[in-house]
Amino acid sequence: MLTAQSKEQKDTRLYRHLKKWLEKAIMDFKMIEEGDKLLIGISGGADSYVLLDLLDSPMIFVPRFSFVAVNIDMGFDPSYKAYNSLEKYLKENNYRHIMDKTDIGIVAHSEINKKNPCFLCSRLRRKRIFEITAAQGCNKIAFAHHRDDIIETLLINMFYGREISTMVPKQIIFGGKLHIIRPLVYMREELVKKYCQERKFPVVKNECPTSETSKRVYIKNLLNDMAKDNKNIRDNIFKAMSHVKADYLLPLSKKM
Ligand code: SF4
Repeated sequence: MLTAQSKEQKDTRLYRHLKKWLEKAIMDFKMIEEGDKLLIGISGGADSYVLLDLLDSPMIFVPRFSFVAVNIDMGFDPSYKAYNSLEKYLKENNYRHIMDKTDIGIVAHSEINKKNPCFLCSRLRRKRIFEITAAQGCNKIAFAHHRDDIIETLLINMFYGREISTMVPKQIIFGGKLHIIRPLVYMREELVKKYCQERKFPVVKNECPTSETSKRVYIKNLLNDMAKDNKNIRDNIFKAMSHVKADYLLPLSKKM
């Protein structure tokens, strides 16, 4: 489905570069099959605009699919005005979309939960997305997590969750009834942000009070510091995830 945006508007060197990597990820991980109906998560952040824009592009090898863009408003702005620019963009470009108003952000930051809002926030948001997915008859959910998100999640899970895991490019859930896909898996955040600027997407400011102090921000800053001495640090971590030497990890009992 191509929208009102003309191909000429998009056709830059960076667009072609990112689309190549999008198609490669989709094909490598068999993310999309003929007739799939995708729910595309659109937070209003740069990454989500880029995902929507790239998926709405002519692709040679990717089977035909349809989609609906879904925004979950977390309720940080009680006047619900923050997402007006996003809604305008979706309407102007003829995207089928749903703007879902919630109070998830407020609940996650309530007095009894304020020590770890991200955990509850993610759970509630995911639950709401599953409900909308079912109501819309979608069989796949596309999230805009890119390469840097995947690297950071690995470190978050190791540092705080005591496990070696991350977000995978294609995740099967509910016994295969639903899949989560991450078509930006190969893309560096820097280029995703650059493309967002190039296309002047109307990015919505993140109103979450935790967004500047989360574990993810801490890890991002840590990696940025380490990259000053070793510019390959992110590359190395990303590649290490597909080069696991299980025999050289500890066979410790779970009780330790
Ligand atoms: S940073 Fe804010 S919006 Fe993001 S998961 Fe945490 S609480 Fe939710």
